[in-house]
Amino acid sequence: MSNYTARRTPVHRGPAAWSAILPAQDAPVELSSDTNADFAIIGAGFAGLSAARRLLQLAPDAEIAVLEAGRLAEGAAGRNSGFMIDLPHEVSAQDYAGQGVDSDREMIALNRQAIAFARAAVEDYDISRAYFDPAGKVNGAAGAKADGLNRSYARHLQSLGEASEILDAKSMFELTGSRHYVSGLFTPGTTMLQPAGYVRALASGLRRDGVAIYENAPVLKFEDQGGSWTVRTAKHRVNARKVILANNGHLESFGFARQRLMHIFLYASMTVDLGAEAVKKLGGQPRWGVTPSDPMGTTMRRIDSAQGGNRIITRTCASFLPGMQVSEGALQRAAKVHREKFDQRFPGLKDVPMEFTWAGHLCLSRNGVAVMRELERGLYSACVENGLGTTRGTLTGIGAAELACAVTSDITGHFTAEAEPTRLPPPPISTIGANLYLRWKEWRAGNE
Ligand SMILES: Cc1cc2nc3c(=O)[nH]c(=O)nc-3n(C[C@H](O)[C@H](O)[C@H](O)COP(=O)(O)OP(=O)(O)OC[C@H]3O[C@@H](n4cnc5c(N)ncnc54)[C@H](O)[C@@H]3O)c2cc1C
Repeated sequence: MSNYTARRTPVHRGPAAWSAILPAQDAPVELSSDTNADFAIIGAGFAGLSAARRLLQLAPDAEIAVLEAGRLAEGAAGRNSGFMIDLPHEVSAQDYAGQGVDSDREMIALNRQAIAFARAAVEDYDISRAYFDPAGKVNGAAGAKADGLNRSYARHLQSLGEASEILDAKSMFELTGSRHYVSGLFTPGTTMLQPAGYVRALASGLRRDGVAIYENAPVLKFEDQGGSWTVRTAKHRVNARKVILANNGHLESFGFARQRLMHIFLYASMTVDLGAEAVKKLGGQPRWGVTPSDPMGTTMRRIDSAQGGNRIITRTCASFLPGMQVSEGALQRAAKVHREKFDQRFPGLKDVPMEFTWAGHLCLSRNGVAVMRELERGLYSACVENGLGTTRGTLTGIGAAELACAVTSDITGHFTAEAEPTRLPPPPISTIGANLYLRWKEWRAGNE
């Protein structure tokens, strides 16, 4: 009978700033004895919590236990930029355009299902609308080449029948307070999350409805007992009929999809809460999100006091780290780049310090597929989000819950038809090659 042991559990570098700027969490609920459940879910990010919510809808009387290695929203859920994007957002393409009209239409419809699912949770659990703001986003261009990418992306969107609006330099200044951008492409369908706020509130709604969510509970092993599973933490175990792995890249830590997953770490910094004087100097709107027109450029976001303070978040730099750990040196190097990118955009705010710098783990496959399927009898995966985990994680979580309840849908149909992640070249070729490629793409993105 199969058993799976974790080769590693998550190690974070830097604080999960989105959670740190919210009021402190209550004391963690920990697993203090052995217990039984119908479903055990490993991981309480977007995928794990969405799986729990979908299970509640499909099997309202089921016992559901979620085991999270750390605190809620301290993993990638509290470390991302919060763009819940409906449109094709192919980070490996020059301009985000996807694979083709039909597959893009299919992906847009699925992404919108994920957003609608999250919106329904926001309504059911009365989650703050500041944590789930359907405000749209802008692709910002700092130069002529990126402006060209915006225009080609706009044409692609038009061919899909999707709305977008080109903003000129003046409109970009009015929005952001920065004269860095020569143009922007506004698309209305993105929901801007306060990701930690959303995830924490989703978890408390699920707890209210009877889901047991255990924190500081890294799963170290799980074993097939012939018709059921035993999931073990250091001290206790959960006996469950079915198990859903919602631990994204740490799927590989249990031995699945070995040599097929790319563990990418992204870096971000967040300013201190801007005082009234800095807010006035900055100008622009109190909330906006700008992704770079060149996918390897810099993402900027402005949030306001309802979201954890008047702050600006700068996200850029990426590294490929198969060992899934970031060094302090890499974090410091990224912090320097963030400072430069921020100063370039907001020269009037050079004296505003960064309060937080952090790294976060995301997981890609070379062929852009997720791993959402039954891995073996009673064991399901909702993993490999390809960098767009707010939507893709929501979808794989829904899909895995549906598979576990023998329900089929557009979501299960889409993901179960996907190929396996393609194999990576052996290390160190893959590591050196991928990091050189990332550095080159970042260099090419220049000021974007
Ligand atoms: C800087 C940065 C910016 C980003 N920006 C965006 C963005 O704007 N939009 C977007 O869509 N995505 C973005 N992402 C990616 C996004 O954060 C991830 O894709 C998303 O969090 C994946 O969701 P998930 O639930 O699949 O995985 P995760 O959020 O990683 O959740 C998995 C959980 O599993 C837990 N876990 C792992 N192993 C174990 C174990 N053995 N036992 C118990 N628990 C375990 C982890 O602690 C973690 O909480 C960004 C990421 C980073 C780092």
